[in-house]
Amino acid sequence: MPGTFDKVAIVGGGTAGWLSAALLAARRPDLSITLVEAPDIATIGVGEGTWPTMRESLRSIGISETEFLRECDASFKQGSRFDGWVDGSEGDSYLHPFTAPPASQTPHVLAAFRASEGTFAQAMSPQAEVCARDLAPRQRAMPDYAGALNYGYHLDAGKFAELLKRHATTRLGVTHIADRVEKVIGEDGGAIEALMLAETGRLVADFFLDCTGMAALLIGQHCGSGWVDRSDVSFNDRALAVQVPVEPGSPIASQTVGSAHEAGWLWDIALPTRRGIGCVYSSRFIDDERAAEILDAYIAKNLPHADRSKLAPRKLAFPTGHREKFWNGNCLAVGMSAGFIEPLEASAIVMIELSVKALADNFPASEAALPAHAERFNQLFHYRWDRIVDFLKLHYVLSQREEPYWVAHRDAASIPDRVQQQLAIWRDQPPSSWDFPQVDEIFSAASQQYVLYGMGYDLPSQSPRVSDTEAARRTAEVREKTRGLCAALPTNRVYLDALTNTHADKPQKGEFA
Ligand SMILES: Cc1cc2nc3c(=O)[nH]c(=O)nc-3n(C[C@H](O)[C@H](O)[C@H](O)COP(=O)(O)OP(=O)(O)OC[C@H]3O[C@@H](n4cnc5c(N)ncnc54)[C@H](O)[C@@H]3O)c2cc1C
Repeated sequence: MPGTFDKVAIVGGGTAGWLSAALLAARRPDLSITLVEAPDIATIGVGEGTWPTMRESLRSIGISETEFLRECDASFKQGSRFDGWVDGSEGDSYLHPFTAPPASQTPHVLAAFRASEGTFAQAMSPQAEVCARDLAPRQRAMPDYAGALNYGYHLDAGKFAELLKRHATTRLGVTHIADRVEKVIGEDGGAIEALMLAETGRLVADFFLDCTGMAALLIGQHCGSGWVDRSDVSFNDRALAVQVPVEPGSPIASQTVGSAHEAGWLWDIALPTRRGIGCVYSSRFIDDERAAEILDAYIAKNLPHADRSKLAPRKLAFPTGHREKFWNGNCLAVGMSAGFIEPLEASAIVMIELSVKALADNFPASEAALPAHAERFNQLFHYRWDRIVDFLKLHYVLSQREEPYWVAHRDAASIPDRVQQQLAIWRDQPPSSWDFPQVDEIFSAASQQYVLYGMGYDLPSQSPRVSDTEAARRTAEVREKTRGLCAALPTNRVYLDALTNTHADKPQKGEFA
């Protein structure tokens, strides 16, 4: 119909493409959405850790939690554990769990932590103990996506894209074209008029989502949106990734484990049938051979039954940075085409969710509205990328490790000004909403506290005082909640195995439904 502005073309069929298609179609049924993906260009195939935001995304798309868990070989993620980040000594470990008490409780938490022998996460939340015991964050009888504790997921990225594709095309009216975009039609750097596909020919749309991953075919190659390099702050640019099958019945960890090594860290993500393990490193400090040795040694130590001769790690090189403009004219970059800062704290998929939510809530009514929308979006997402860079850096600057990579991370020239200022303020007071004032902050003050005090930063000299009685009450409360949850929650293994059991509707032994 003349005058309408409602045709959306999404290019790319990885996590970014299919998640965008499903979210946008569910939130904006008034739009006509077509997704084009090149059958001969593989997706990146990693990206196995999500944030708790994924629960609301899946719910809004209309996928049941059981279907999602079964189809994607998924498990629950309740946070990230960091081993060896402080000094690499035995027992050097802290947790950044997803559940945080209300900000008003911070003084009580600090006082309880000060008076206790335990870790900061233990003072903050019962989730620390729940994670230590490999327990699920919910019981099966709870409504979909409800939890006793906050949680996201670990998943198989390939299966996730397949599930989203099936759901988006059969239930949400998304049109799928398996074809390669050969040419972007429109004035260079300006609005896109159409795409020329190898087999199908011309595809016209009003608005385009670039989900082509690192190729950045639309936003980079056509629109010419520049690249803001952040490798001066964030050094990692390579990963070796491998999937190791696990024994049936083996425990499934409740958190991503990130283990520091001489020039980076290793991720370890437990799914019901396998462990996804990867060595993330900086090519400035070690070469691929050394990274392969580090990965092999980790698997030998942590999965002694694995047949290492059968494993063939995949090498991934990734840029560190983001676009100057994420939204240019009638094109929005979502996923790796918009940017990527190493996988620590798994902040990429949540940026896809946030980008599409922002687009769906503010879809331009006409071509004339594009520049104002683009400017507002770009401002907001620059803020978000900056906060990701800052928060990831916080994990490194407080380390006492002595290898050259870690020493270089502490060089003031590599630390953003804002992080330096905040560390100065945090000597006197804990991270708070004064430091992170936006409504949808990507990393809350509580997340900063988990890392700061997990890494051993001194407690602030001027934190608001609470009485010993109040601190003791807080400790007793957490202890009691912990006891209750540990008694009531099934292990991840029991919960997830029950889903594939033929009698999955009935509670299984050890599972309290
Ligand atoms: C080592 C590593 C670990 C990661 N871990 C996490 C994590 O734990 N959590 C997290 O949130 N994120 C993680 N990420 C990021 C995450 O993997 C990505 O954000 C996510 O997979 C989205 O990728 P994408 O869809 O943008 O790109 P891709 O998966 O690369 O998809 C690109 C798509 O574009 C298509 N395409 C390309 N060119 C054309 C063309 N000319 N015509 C048509 N189609 C085309 C391809 O066929 C493909 O379908 C990780 C990334 C890396 C590198």
